Amino acid sequence: MELKVLQLYAAVVVLLLCSSVNFIQSPTDVFGPVALVEPTPSAARDFGAVVSDAPFAVLRPGSPADIARLLSALSSAPGRPRAAVAARGAGHSLHGQAQVRGGIVVEMRALPRAVEVVRRGEGGGAYADVGAGALWVEVLEECLKAGLAPRSWTDYLYLTVGGTLSNGGISGQAFKHGPQISNVLELEVVTGTGEEVTCSPTKSPELFFAVLGGLGQFGIITRARIPLQVAPPKVRWVRAFYDSFQTFTKDQELLVSMPELVDYVEGFMVLDEQSLHSSSIAFPGQVYFSPDFGSDGKKVYYCIEFAVHDFQQEYSTAADHVVELVSGELSYLRPHIYSVGVSYFDFLNRVRMEEESLRSRGLWDVPHPWLNVFVPKHGVTRFKDLLMDTITPGVFEGPILVYPLLTDRWDRNTSAVVPSAPDGVMYIFSVLRSTDPARCGRACVEGILEQHRRVADEACRGGGIGAKQYLARQPSQAHWRDHFGSSWGRFVARKARFDPMHVLGPGQGIFTTTDSASSM
Ligand code: FAD
Repeated sequence: MELKVLQLYAAVVVLLLCSSVNFIQSPTDVFGPVALVEPTPSAARDFGAVVSDAPFAVLRPGSPADIARLLSALSSAPGRPRAAVAARGAGHSLHGQAQVRGGIVVEMRALPRAVEVVRRGEGGGAYADVGAGALWVEVLEECLKAGLAPRSWTDYLYLTVGGTLSNGGISGQAFKHGPQISNVLELEVVTGTGEEVTCSPTKSPELFFAVLGGLGQFGIITRARIPLQVAPPKVRWVRAFYDSFQTFTKDQELLVSMPELVDYVEGFMVLDEQSLHSSSIAFPGQVYFSPDFGSDGKKVYYCIEFAVHDFQQEYSTAADHVVELVSGELSYLRPHIYSVGVSYFDFLNRVRMEEESLRSRGLWDVPHPWLNVFVPKHGVTRFKDLLMDTITPGVFEGPILVYPLLTDRWDRNTSAVVPSAPDGVMYIFSVLRSTDPARCGRACVEGILEQHRRVADEACRGGGIGAKQYLARQPSQAHWRDHFGSSWGRFVARKARFDPMHVLGPGQGIFTTTDSASSM
């Protein structure tokens, strides 16, 4: 943007925010008690590294009241120019969802990130009150000091509480406890109109359920109350290999039917030697599996990963016994099962090692054309075949996770969308690709994204699979309507109620400021 245009825009926005200020030319100027600052490069960047939209300014809130003042000023001036606002957690979005071209990015990491652990009376359970800008790893570290931990996780812990609660938050515990959005007791939210509200399933429930999985559309979460359980000191972590997709998924479903024994279930595809090697980086046990990938290199293997919490302080047998019992029921490629004992923290933080390895190979700060799809059980084989048409073993870099989730663990009152699965089982397919810029330039990344669009269209819109994408920015409002299906009307009504001027979350591409409630 030309400097003069920028200055003019700055003046308009700041005047809008504070009528007592007569002329201010730069985002670094202070209005009232809230200061906007010049945008840093990170405000126009995310983990996907595919979209880069520069904001006009950044707000580093010292408290939720700063956010409230900003949103209240921006939304309460009908007919006058408005700037859109995006909350930015850790910026691990994939398609610019936490960005806002020409608007204001609210850096959630600037909010106080204290984690307060509270034990209630006898049998009352415990919870943590957590600033929404805290990373899950910070929550874990603090809770472990009290011997406690949240129940539901993401694989990677360097994501903010507000960021994952705006999506869903899944990992291998979700079959048992539901996603992270099913594990929240209370929230503090600043709505799109600048109202600060404390909400829960019984207090302002409409806002509570709207913001959970709400893609940042209805309010900015500033604090969350997360229920805690007793943390095991250790975990027995098991991997078992398969050469048949059918047997692999059948055994995964068996494992998720044993929540009283098993605490975590995931799985991934083994495409080639490299994928076997990189998936072993975090797993501290020896693995003597050297499969034959066939003369054309197209034979694919699968690995189930499950874990059992181990509460014994010293060398224990209880968890070993459970692992033995459960393993006896599985039909893996004998003898390829491997088990190792690790601390609970190291287990939950396992992806950090993969991050370090990718960083050392220059493959972390690169474009990530990822695809995440929830597929109902009846469609998994068709979806897997559809997906494999787009994957070339030997060239593909990154894991492909495949594991089952139970749809009844998802609260349908939240804004998150999952497929309807008549037997209650759906799978997450996560294609977590890193592209090496030396081998895959802009056009190549665009080509991969186009392939993903075709796979997603076939799986979600046509073809009868009935899948739903996760973490995706849909290409048009028509796609969003399809995505939400019968809950689209509720989503639009929630927007009209909590952010009628469409100030929040333009990076998701669901609503524009021009179709705000006043013009709808
Ligand atoms: P951001 O990218 O900063 O924001 C995401 C969205 O939420 C944006 O629309 C933003 O405006 C909005 N938002 C952010 N904070 C708030 C807030 N406080 N209130 C309201 N809206 C807000 N997901 C899983 O479920 N399971 C996984 O195992 C998993 N692993 C991942 C591993 C890696 C390496 C990466 C990059 C992502 C992973 N994700 C996973 C996806 C991740 O959960 C989402 O990308 C999440 O949005 C990231 O959180 P963030 O803090 O970076 O959010």
